[in-house]
Amino acid sequence: MNNLLNTIGYLAAGFLGAIVGSFLNVCIYRIPRSQSIVFPGSHCPKCGASIAFYDNVPILSYIILRGKCRSCHAPISPRYPLVEALNTILYLFLFMKYGWSPAILFYFLFVSMLVAISFIDLDFRIIPDRLSLSGVMLGVIASFFIKGITPLESLLGVVIGGGFLFLVAFLYEMIAHKEGMGGGDIKLLAMIGAFLGWQAIPFVILVSSFTGALIGILVIAIKKRDAKFAIPFGPFLSFAALLYLFVGPEMVHWYLSLGRAGG
Ligand SMILES: [Zn+2]
Repeated sequence: MNNLLNTIGYLAAGFLGAIVGSFLNVCIYRIPRSQSIVFPGSHCPKCGASIAFYDNVPILSYIILRGKCRSCHAPISPRYPLVEALNTILYLFLFMKYGWSPAILFYFLFVSMLVAISFIDLDFRIIPDRLSLSGVMLGVIASFFIKGITPLESLLGVVIGGGFLFLVAFLYEMIAHKEGMGGGDIKLLAMIGAFLGWQAIPFVILVSSFTGALIGILVIAIKKRDAKFAIPFGPFLSFAALLYLFVGPEMVHWYLSLGRAGG
């Protein structure tokens, strides 16, 4: 019986992840262009032909159509199935960790919003308030339902997460006389603090700065861009938040135990 419930759970989580992933592609394309995410239905950006439901099956349609529009044969970006697969995998991980619990619904929303925010930030260097600010509210509401985080910890996460980056941005502008950190990053870290609590903030800042710097150096070295080339920070904040959600407390515990063993 337990095995059956488990199997159904994984199937449902994977199925939902793929469907929501497909919807995320619509959001990633339309929200920064200020278009409605409901109307009109999916259509080819090249020839405008509307996409039939049987050609809009997440991941599978891309493979069957071999990455081309059925009417005009224009290539479809591999990013579409990639976003769908990424969201599916995240939902499967969430079910593995939380199983059948009310918390999982909030975490489904959280990870999908992080995926949408990351790709919009990559494309447009903006993080829409529509996503980050509703994420802050949703995270605080979630803290009333999720075990392991109290509403106070969530609110402190908003204040400390948003406040820390605000201070960094403020000091940078004072010293460099130009804008460094975008306001979108500040609201995103506030959203992450709302969902994960203030305890996650140091981890998220450390991991995102480290991975961001590492990738930044690689991009400059490989693409020979000049050092002023701006890399969006949202994907790194999102990555660090996901890492914390799945294994953060374990990693912090492991790290602290190293210190104890050594000294
Ligand atoms: Zn087309």
